Amino acid sequence: MVRFVYNAERCTLPYDPEQRRPTTCLKCIEACPKSLLMFRPLKKKSPDGAPGRYEIYMAFRSRADKYCPSCLKCVEVCPNGAIRIKV
Ligand code: SF4
Ligand code: SF4
Repeated sequence: MVRFVYNAERCTLPYDPEQRRPTTCLKCIEACPKSLLMFRPLKKKSPDGAPGRYEIYMAFRSRADKYCPSCLKCVEVCPNGAIRIKV
């Protein structure tokens, strides 16, 4: 069973207050050949109080077995070790 494990504390999505969105990194999203990874606002505020922190999530997570071939490209490109794929 494929499981997407994400550590928001490790993920450092830089936030641009003018554009109100993360503007850099997102390497995992760009690397995913199946376009399964997306970002959304974190519900709770970050410890440093920065507004609008974001988190990465996997679309169709409950059906990851069907859609994610466990290629590990997202894991390999992440500079912070914020993503693991468990099989
Ligand atoms: S393991 Fe591959 S297909 Fe699955 S989410 Fe990561 S990059 Fe996408
Ligand atoms: S590659 Fe890693 S640090 Fe960059 S957005 Fe994805 S999870 Fe966050």
